[in-house]
Amino acid sequence: GDVVVPGATASPPLAGHELLYSGKVRGLYAPLDPRTGEHDGTRLLLVASDRVSAYDHVLSTPVPDKGAVLTQLSLWWFDQLADLAPHHVVSTDVPPAVAGRAVYVRRLRMLPVECVARAFLTGGGLAEYAASGTVSGVRLPEGLVDGSRLPEPVFTPSTKAPAGEHDQPISFAEVEGLVGPRLAARVRDLTVAILQRGNEIAAGRGILIADTKVEFGVDPEQLAAALGISPADALEDEINWAAVDPDVVDVLLADEVLTPDSSRFWRADEWAPGRTQTSYDKQVLRDWLTSADSGWDRRSDAPPPSLPDEVVGLTRARYVEAYETLTGQTFPPAAPSA
Ligand code: ATP
Ligand code: MG
Repeated sequence: GDVVVPGATASPPLAGHELLYSGKVRGLYAPLDPRTGEHDGTRLLLVASDRVSAYDHVLSTPVPDKGAVLTQLSLWWFDQLADLAPHHVVSTDVPPAVAGRAVYVRRLRMLPVECVARAFLTGGGLAEYAASGTVSGVRLPEGLVDGSRLPEPVFTPSTKAPAGEHDQPISFAEVEGLVGPRLAARVRDLTVAILQRGNEIAAGRGILIADTKVEFGVDPEQLAAALGISPADALEDEINWAAVDPDVVDVLLADEVLTPDSSRFWRADEWAPGRTQTSYDKQVLRDWLTSADSGWDRRSDAPPPSLPDEVVGLTRARYVEAYETLTGQTFPPAAPSA
């Protein structure tokens, strides 16, 4: 879900583009035809900012290079996953103002589901397991603890909550209700396969991916043809998803993939089930925000304070470390996003 992002923390205007949406982290821009000033609706510029969110707040202090790390890491993963999941990236040749942290993508109609898969038990999955012995309705063995590896990855979808609201976990049957059984099975299988492949690759680099969230969309032209509606309606109108055959309409991996923002990364050598695992990226920041030093009460309505330079530096270093450890490349890449 999104929050309303105030002035300084929203995506700025960009020459030759129209800002369509400013999310917690990313801005979505439509490139304008220089002659007509119109956009054709088929492509978007997806720009990752240096904004960082914690405890449902977008912080007032940016973390330098975070947007570039997220973008470059996603591009690397899209490549690693290309045989499993076709993706939305069209070009990395972007305006200099956003170089390294933006990509042109196919504008898709997004499916109304947040696709989450878990390979390890923690967070919301652990809470459900403690209450009912299940995760997303799937029965698990007894005796699992915080950080346990699951026998196999489980699809644990959630709703895409409207602005300002929290995503709610839903069952697979509810996903079938939202998008029909065929699309539900397709996004479940893709999500689990992405996490599985991600963990195979990350394991060789000493990282465990506990869980991740991905988003899928479909090409509005294909959707329009399949449903007998106009491409404009395919972008805007209510869609009868159950009528969409994923063998006819391509289901594309969109947004970002297997980044520290969309996933929980743990260091394999520090993994010890039975306690809270330290997550790679935002731990420094969360620790500081909840410490006495910050003077901030998480349960109050007050926005979090600005971050000290040291916390910003350590957080930046964690994001860069995740990129370098996973890809085996130094940051920034020599030829950005080539
Ligand atoms: P969340 O908390 O779920 O990440 P957000 O709005 O804060 O939500 P951002 O990552 O800041 O998320 O914004 C990215 C937005 O772009 C999301 O709404 C995502 O669904 C959308 N998006 C990503 N790729 C595409 C695409 N190819 N076509 C259309 N929309 C896309
Ligand atoms: Mg997002």
